[in-house]
Amino acid sequence: MTEKKLPEGLHRDTLAVRVAADKSQYGENSEALYLTSSFVQPDAATAARRFSGEEEGYTYSRFSNPTVTSFEKRLAALEGTEACIGTSSGMSAIMLMCFGLLKSGDHVICSRSMFGSTIKLIGSEFAKFGVESSFVSQTDLAEWQAAVRPTTKLLFAETPTNPLTEVCDIQGLADIAHAAGALLAVDNCFCSPALCRPVTMGADLITHSGTKYLDGEGRVIAGAICGTKKLIDEKFIPVMRSGGMSLSPFNAWVVLKGMETLSIRMQAQSAGALELATWLEAQPAVARVYYPGLASHPQHELAMRQQTINGQGCGGAVLSFDVKGADVESVRKNAFHVIDSTLVCSITANLGDTKTTITHPATTSHGRLSEAQRQSAGISQGLIRVAVGLEFIDDLKADLARGLDSLSV
Ligand SMILES: *Cc1c(COP(=O)(O)O)cnc(C)c1O
Repeated sequence: MTEKKLPEGLHRDTLAVRVAADKSQYGENSEALYLTSSFVQPDAATAARRFSGEEEGYTYSRFSNPTVTSFEKRLAALEGTEACIGTSSGMSAIMLMCFGLLKSGDHVICSRSMFGSTIKLIGSEFAKFGVESSFVSQTDLAEWQAAVRPTTKLLFAETPTNPLTEVCDIQGLADIAHAAGALLAVDNCFCSPALCRPVTMGADLITHSGTKYLDGEGRVIAGAICGTKKLIDEKFIPVMRSGGMSLSPFNAWVVLKGMETLSIRMQAQSAGALELATWLEAQPAVARVYYPGLASHPQHELAMRQQTINGQGCGGAVLSFDVKGADVESVRKNAFHVIDSTLVCSITANLGDTKTTITHPATTSHGRLSEAQRQSAGISQGLIRVAVGLEFIDDLKADLARGLDSLSV
C-alpha cells in the first residue's frame, strides 16, 4: 500500500519504532512476519532478472526476506549507517565480516579482552586460511599502533569488554586504522546503538549480536553487520548468498520488535546498574567493582564521552565485582556462595535480558583459559558478573546481600 514517507531528521527513538520495509497491501500496523523460504515469481523472465541481480525483488530467504529487510533498515537507522546485513548469530556476523574482507596473508588487530569466541574464530579458525592476527591491550592505543603491519586490513574492537568493562577509544583506533589504510570495526553489543554510535567516532563497520540488548528479552539468536552500502553490497552480500549465514525471518521479527523498546530498556537497566554498582562499592565483602559509570573506573571519563543517552554519560547495564577472600580457593568458594545465594537472579552466561543474569566468568565464559591467562586478563576466581535487568533494584540488592552479608571476610 502507499505509505506516508517519514520526514528527515527524526530522533533515534522515533526511528526505532517506525523504520521498516513497506507494509503489505493489508496495511498491518505491526510489521509482518514473512515466514517463507521462497517467493513466487510473476514469470520466468522476471525470475531471471531477479536472480541475476538486474532487478530488485525477493527470490529466496537465504538471500533476502522482507522481515529481515525491516530488521536491517531499523538497525541501520539506529546505528546511523547506510546499510545493514542480518546474520544468524553475532558470531556469524563476525565470520561474515572476516570472510568478506580478508584473504590469506592479511593481518587483523584485535584487543586481547574481546569476546572469547571472537578470539578463537580469528586467532585459530581464520589462521587455518593464512589470516594473521595480533592481540593487544584493550586500552593502550600505542600497542595497537605498534602492531600495525603493511598487511593490516582490519582493526576490530569491542567496548566495554566482558566481564571487566574496559573501554577503548574508538576515535583513536579509527585514526590508527585509517592512517594504515585499514578499516575499523566495532562490536557494539554491550552498548547497543542506544548508548554508542561508533560510526560517529570514525568506525567503518559495526557488528552486533542481536541476541543481547537488541532482542532484549533473551529469546532468539541473531546478528548483523552495519556499514556503508558499498561495503555491504560488495563485500558481504555475495558471501552471504554463497555462505548462507542468513538470519531467520522469525528471529528477525522478534529482534525487530525488541528494538522498539531498546532505548527505554537501556536507560532503565543502566540506571539500575549504576545504583547497584554504587551500592556494591560500599559492601565490606566486595574488594572491587568494575563499572564504567563509577568515578573509580580507569576509563570513566572516556566512557562518559563515548557512551551517552540523551547527552548524559551512561555506563551501560553490565558490571562485575570481586569478592574478598584469603586465597584463591576461598575467593572462589565465596563467589560461588554469593551466586548460589541468589533467589531472583538467573545463573546464566547470557546478558542483555530483562531478567538479571549472574555468572562466574573464571569457570564459565573464561573457563577454557589457563589460570595464568586468566590472571593476566584480570579474571580472578572471586569475580562475579551481573548483567542488570528490569527487576526492582532493591530486590536485586537484597538478592546479592543474602550471600555477601553471610561471608566472613
Ligand atoms: C554474545 C556476544 C557475541 C556473539 O553473539 P551470538 O549471538 O551469541 O553469536 C559477540 N560479541 C559479544 C560482545 C557478545 O557479547
